[in-house]
Amino acid sequence: MEYKPTIGLEIHVELKTRTKMFCDSLNNADEKEPNRNTCPVCLGHPGTLPVPNKEAIRHVIRVGLALGGTINPVTKFDRKNYFYPDLPKGYQISQYDQPLVTGGNLLGVQIRRIHLEEDTGTLVHTSVPENENKHENDHPYSYSHPSRASLVDFNRSGVPLMELVTEPDITSAEQAAEFGKELQLILRYLGVSDADMEKGHLRIEANISLRPEIPNSKSQNPNELGTKVEIKNINSFKAMRGAVDYELTRQEEVLKAGKKVSQETRGWDEAKQKTVSQRSKEEAHDYRYFPEPDIPPFATSVFEPERLARELPELPSAKRTRFAKEYGLDAKQAELLISEPKLSEYFEESASELKSLPPSITNYQLLINYLTSDLRGLMGEKGIEFGALRVKPEHFAHLVSLAAEKKITSRQAKDMLRKMVVSDEDPEDILRDEAAQSVSDEGKLRQVVEMVLVANPQAIADYKKGKVQSLQFLVGKAMGELKGKGNPETLRKLFTDELKK
Ligand code: ADP
Ligand code: MG
Repeated sequence: MEYKPTIGLEIHVELKTRTKMFCDSLNNADEKEPNRNTCPVCLGHPGTLPVPNKEAIRHVIRVGLALGGTINPVTKFDRKNYFYPDLPKGYQISQYDQPLVTGGNLLGVQIRRIHLEEDTGTLVHTSVPENENKHENDHPYSYSHPSRASLVDFNRSGVPLMELVTEPDITSAEQAAEFGKELQLILRYLGVSDADMEKGHLRIEANISLRPEIPNSKSQNPNELGTKVEIKNINSFKAMRGAVDYELTRQEEVLKAGKKVSQETRGWDEAKQKTVSQRSKEEAHDYRYFPEPDIPPFATSVFEPERLARELPELPSAKRTRFAKEYGLDAKQAELLISEPKLSEYFEESASELKSLPPSITNYQLLINYLTSDLRGLMGEKGIEFGALRVKPEHFAHLVSLAAEKKITSRQAKDMLRKMVVSDEDPEDILRDEAAQSVSDEGKLRQVVEMVLVANPQAIADYKKGKVQSLQFLVGKAMGELKGKGNPETLRKLFTDELKK
């Protein structure tokens, strides 16, 4: 490409807290009934006072620490003024020039800042169902039809929202998606958000521009960036790749035609797989930021950032390195575990049990194979989550140890696992039961022996002529009938007794 792509991201994250950002209404993203979690504060009534949520502030500080940012010693909130029906106060409480966090880095991309603000309500535009007659002359916002209206739900109004802004360090759609995914994982590890893009917990806006690879005149500053376009409405990582790639191509075509890219906001149209213009620069807002008079600036030291830093969980990057070193897992195996914290926890618990079991060289490869294909397969089949899984890690490790020692075949291991998923038995107990069953059920064995003999007169004749292999053939037949659960010694004895008659 003759042009260098430049991409910077603005990411909004709905934080997981018990209550909202400035009041004690519940923060429940799953609430189905509209306007249930509301109060005069988050409905923007005049005269109400905001009280900042400490849990939300702590969440943002922890994200800042995890990304190596600086926690600013003093921070403050500001009012960002604009009108929209989902914002009843006419301003959003946000942070302007003294955000909670400045700087930081993720996957080589510099973080500019991370601040805390409040989310807006949501608008619900009802429409006429397909099968009802639409009148051509109806105004699009006409209320003449009862099912055509715009409704406001304030359940989300005032929910803590973290905004993270990157420097324009990203150079491809793939890199942008990787950054987003890694951040999502970190947010989940920290437990600060469910970070589900489809549900709008994690909302990523991409700023995209192109500039000539080689500046076209000596006077042009080689570090000068091209005109940027902001893309909104990206609802998945797939959409993100699509939107960024589409936009890079579109801008390249504009520039190649000798035209200028106009600074605007575009939206990703999922159905058409293209970006469409939403707002031009002329319509850009002047938010008239000013300090929130009802919340004085405050020192972050009261949140004990040093202690929060010490108490951070192990993060994905550290875990990747450790999994490779400690268990010899390859990148793909490690990634599978890292992307699913519950799976990785189960792996580590089983691995630690496995260490104290024979054989002396612990077979982590066998463990991960049984875990990711067999156990997970069974869990999928039966719809069991790790939280409800009955197979204790110690029993799972025991099974792997028996398989590693070749005390059971892989077929047996799979069958035993199927039993363990419903009963959580120790594999040793299953083996003992099976052995006990095969001995005690001699009546059943005798029946099978008789059946096999009736079905195989030739083998009897051969045996009587002195062909001893025939006995093994008959035992094999019986074992087949018993699905491998018979005791071969007992069967051999029963057959010899019968054949002597
Ligand atoms: P604005 O003031 O228009 O919001 P900012 O300077 O605050 O712009 O940057 C917003 C986001 O856009 C940041 O993530 C930043 O990295 C990115 N950005 C800024 N300039 C460019 C550019 N020329 N090309 C691509 N991204 C850019
Ligand atoms: Mg901005």
